[in-house]
Amino acid sequence: MRRNLTVNGDRLWQRHMALAEIGPVGETGNCRLSMSKEDGAARDLFARWCRDAGLSVQSDRAGNMVAIRPGTDPDRGLVAAGSHLDTQPHGGRFDGISGVLAALEAIETLNDAGIETKAPLAVINWTNEEGVRFAPGLMGSSWFVGELTDDALDASTASDGTTFAAEAEKIGWRGELRPDAVEMDSFFELHIEQGPVLERAGVQVGIVTSVQGLRWLDVIVTGMDAHAGTTPLDARRDALLAAAAAVQAINCEGRREGADARVSVGRFLPATDGPSTIVGEVRFVIDIRHPDNAVLGRLEAACKRASIEAADRYGCVATVTRRIAVPPRDFDAGCIDAVQQAADALGFSNMQLPSGALHDASNIAAIAPTSMIFVPCRNGISHNIDEYASPEDLAAGCNVLLHSMLSRAG
Ligand SMILES: [Zn+2]
Repeated sequence: MRRNLTVNGDRLWQRHMALAEIGPVGETGNCRLSMSKEDGAARDLFARWCRDAGLSVQSDRAGNMVAIRPGTDPDRGLVAAGSHLDTQPHGGRFDGISGVLAALEAIETLNDAGIETKAPLAVINWTNEEGVRFAPGLMGSSWFVGELTDDALDASTASDGTTFAAEAEKIGWRGELRPDAVEMDSFFELHIEQGPVLERAGVQVGIVTSVQGLRWLDVIVTGMDAHAGTTPLDARRDALLAAAAAVQAINCEGRREGADARVSVGRFLPATDGPSTIVGEVRFVIDIRHPDNAVLGRLEAACKRASIEAADRYGCVATVTRRIAVPPRDFDAGCIDAVQQAADALGFSNMQLPSGALHDASNIAAIAPTSMIFVPCRNGISHNIDEYASPEDLAAGCNVLLHSMLSRAG
């Protein structure tokens, strides 16, 4: 391994700052929703950097951007890396962006050093990872691996009535590249951790072994509307009280399954909103995550039971239905090992961990050997304009990405 081959951390940081000027929010935030004017401007700037680095830039029906540097062996598949350039409405400067820019920086480092690889290399910007303007999230990579049909992709509609197909054409990023024309040897995604684990451990590089699974349960608690002044406490069927007890109970169920369990309620909708009406119906969604599918199953059953029992305690009825079940995804042992060896050889403190969030890499893992590199982010904050990763940590992660790709590409 060429240990003294290192990326240009300044160039990597300057590009983060240049992209951050497109769609700024506050002092340090960004809003570039997928296929918006701002997304188009970011894509155009990124494409210019790619072309300046000698890469050919293509796009596909989903607007995914694939920028390729040829290899010396025409029979080899692409060693690809990337992430996404779109952001949350109050997003930061690093979520997704770092992975795209690090992949480009890795290739430019090879250009600067005059190093060719046997396998071709690629930088990929996956479309609409965030799923804010168009649903679903992870849209580009889902379509690429065949999880989303052409029709479903084209017809996805924003709240203002515009379709994905029309908006992609409008900003000029709807191409002809077919996924089956892309033979992928492997895929690496660098991403900020979006959690506090690396920072707490004082570790510079995270080696991601898997993406945890996810289940969503829709819960409807039904009681009866009543007058807050005239209905005695023991004569009520208070759906809000029952739902609140359910939220408390499922949190206990999550804690019982240990440190890796995540159980959350982020959407909670009472049917009425008046200070003097006892609420007759509440709808909420339980978000359950865990790296182990068997534990996910146990948590789902426990949350369902806890919701029904809590409703029953207050004279209400809960119905619980499953909306989504995404199984945990283990990354490829060879790709994990490539990242581990690069991190060790470069002397960066590192640890293996599962990803708490879904990423495009979880989709790509279905069609090609894949793994991820995590960079620490300050206080674990993400989806927030205060999101921050240091130039030093980004450069360290980028160096690990460079050498992981090199070990794969030869
Ligand atoms: Zn992201």
